[in-house]
Amino acid sequence: MDAYPYSGRFAVHRRLPGQGRPRDEILAELAAIAAEEDAFWETGKCSGTMYCGDHGHYSFLTAAFGQFAHVNALQRDICPSMTKFEGEIIAMTLDVLRADAVTDGTPAGIVTTGGTGSILHAMLAYRDHARAERGITAPNVIKPETAHPAFDKACHLFGIEPRTAPVDPVTTGVDAGWVADHIDANTIALVGSACNYGYGTIDPIAELSGLALDRGIGLHVDACLGGFILPFGQRLGYDIPVYDFRLPGVTSISADTHKYGYALKGSSVVAFRRKELRNAQYFYSAGWSGGKYCSPGIEGSRSGGLLAATWASMVSLGWDGYLRHAREIFQTSARMQDAVRSHPELRILGAPTFLFSFTSDEFDIYHVNDFMRERGWRFNGQQYPNALHMAVTRPQTQAGVAEAFAADLAEAVGYARERAGEPARSGAVYGGLPGGLTGDADQFIRAVMAELMDGQQALPPPG
Ligand SMILES: *Cc1c(COP(=O)(O)O)cnc(C)c1O
Repeated sequence: MDAYPYSGRFAVHRRLPGQGRPRDEILAELAAIAAEEDAFWETGKCSGTMYCGDHGHYSFLTAAFGQFAHVNALQRDICPSMTKFEGEIIAMTLDVLRADAVTDGTPAGIVTTGGTGSILHAMLAYRDHARAERGITAPNVIKPETAHPAFDKACHLFGIEPRTAPVDPVTTGVDAGWVADHIDANTIALVGSACNYGYGTIDPIAELSGLALDRGIGLHVDACLGGFILPFGQRLGYDIPVYDFRLPGVTSISADTHKYGYALKGSSVVAFRRKELRNAQYFYSAGWSGGKYCSPGIEGSRSGGLLAATWASMVSLGWDGYLRHAREIFQTSARMQDAVRSHPELRILGAPTFLFSFTSDEFDIYHVNDFMRERGWRFNGQQYPNALHMAVTRPQTQAGVAEAFAADLAEAVGYARERAGEPARSGAVYGGLPGGLTGDADQFIRAVMAELMDGQQALPPPG
């Protein structure tokens, strides 16, 4: 992968331009770059990331965004609209997550900047609530090995000990017995995913809910990925277990509006069963000379545009719009999974729905990735075991994409069979960054980060 493909074609700004450039020229440059990058996923061959893929919808969201892009959602006296948009986004999300079933508290939420933001806020709420209510100063959280790294990030940032529970190698669901055995007096919450990012499988949330209730601790369900598609799959009659607020032990759920909520990137909701838990992480500073300060979450200033666009996405789709998109996605995923199952060399992990992951016990699955890449496919790569995953989104529901997948996969399996025993070219990095994972993995990911962050941004030599 070339991290800087534009350096030969467009001016590289190593310094602030002395004289500002004309708007027309800038917009033309942006349009050229965007068209090139959109072409990559418009084919439907790219897993995840572009959840909607409909330029009409994007233009509509951008128009909504544009009305409030310059507004600071922190300053409500001049933008009461933000209180409306945020409140309604939370209310609509609580509806989808079945907060109507809650009788033991007042459900509440926060709009955050993304899945990581939602997970951070939930973990902060558990930590601060447990400190205030139970006097816990050395908290721990028990999470499945398949839970998103954002939980480790939250633990890292907030001084929480992460306890990583193994998963069943067949179902890929967390080992609830292990979880039960590792809860102690300092455990503030359990975590389960619905569904996890890697395999698209759902942890035994009902079992975790029972455990959490029994032991008097929290249970966070990570539905960042599934929160705006699984409920619609349930309505459509797919066999998807209950994982939401209908389970009495579920105390918080993260659901990303910027994934299957089809909003713009930079928005997500974390929902709480009880308002007190959410409020535990509010920040107040009453004595500052700059004035009394409070914020509902970690961020300070936020763009009002994201709230307006998220709200616009949700109200423009409604239950019928989300159901319509979900139906097409589930059907497309089933067709693609059938193609995988038609090859005895390939094995799907667990019992997934819209997102599936497959491996091979006969050859390194990255050979399949190598071949499919040449055909324009971009999967997410996994490890332990090596596997490829496809998060089916709306671009894959276009005519002919599932068929192309089946045809290319058949050839890829032949290619991989011929190379069984040889090393493959590509490897597992979240987000589809460069392959070629050789040597020390830790050093490799550090090198990727350096390439992305320090290359062209380095200052020119003095003089
Ligand atoms: C995407 C995702 C996250 C993290 O979300 P970001 O929006 O990338 O911060 C967390 N959990 C799951 C299951 C996800 O799919």
